[in-house]
Amino acid sequence: MTSDPAAPNVIVVTGGGRGIGAATVHRLAADAAATGNHIHLIVNYASDEASARSVADGAGALSDLVGATAVRADVSSEDDVTRLFAAADDVGRLSGLVNNAGIVYPIGAFVDLDAERLERTWAVNITGAFLCAREAVRRLSTAHGGSGGAIVNVSSRAASFGSPNEFVDYAASKGAIDTMTRGLANEVAAQGIRVNAVRPGLIDTDIHTAAGFPERVAALGGNVPIGRGGTATEVANLIAWLLSPEASYVTGALMDIGGGR
Ligand code: NAP
Repeated sequence: MTSDPAAPNVIVVTGGGRGIGAATVHRLAADAAATGNHIHLIVNYASDEASARSVADGAGALSDLVGATAVRADVSSEDDVTRLFAAADDVGRLSGLVNNAGIVYPIGAFVDLDAERLERTWAVNITGAFLCAREAVRRLSTAHGGSGGAIVNVSSRAASFGSPNEFVDYAASKGAIDTMTRGLANEVAAQGIRVNAVRPGLIDTDIHTAAGFPERVAALGGNVPIGRGGTATEVANLIAWLLSPEASYVTGALMDIGGGR
């Protein structure tokens, strides 16, 4: 980790190349450009390099004070996560993590779940988030020589609903993220680190294509009390607020952003 006092604050956004992660990178870059803060965003991706590079380039173009680097890493791999945070160390001092990378398998019945699908879902959605949070704590904790910071975990309203007939495995993985958020928040609260979760409902991103139902937001948006699905930008706005000093007394919170559901 650099000891240069002029080094930028670094925020790692996992799965930052598309969807909610990409919107978060854009929002954080725009905030830094508006306030004159010197930051560097690590835009993590798994396979879509072109999209991550485009997001990083767009963020970096907003201001000379904003740097952004696309870094490929499978968050379920401990070696990759080590490399991801080493890339952050190379450019500045970590100040935040957005644990956003996540996957869902096609919609189906519980009786059709198999071990391969379950293990991959746990590996990316749970192990990945735990490993990234661990690396962040090692850098942010005042007990480890850090200066504090914030972690935002991207959970889901599915953790409460359980997603029957859709993807109970995915919902359960997000339940684990809620539990981790509560436990870790209290473990590191006195070490200068705030840990919170956002729990989005139906948000318009490509993840529904992976679920085998690309038109899911259009089809189900009318069932949401607010009358529509949400946008990635609306979730990014909440994530950015939780990372910001305005949320200085918020930790261990599970914040629903589901249009009333
Ligand atoms: P998305 O558009 O499908 O984007 C997912 C991102 O995660 C992509 O950037 C992808 O990388 C990355 N990713 C997937 N597996 C990865 C891995 N093993 N290592 C590193 N990165 C990986 O999905 P999204 O809707 O924005 O979802 C973002 C988060 O929000 C997820 O945790 C999801 O569960 C949660 N969420 C979404 C909704 C919703 O309705 N959209 C609702 C609740 C919660 P590539 O670009 O390289 O593929």
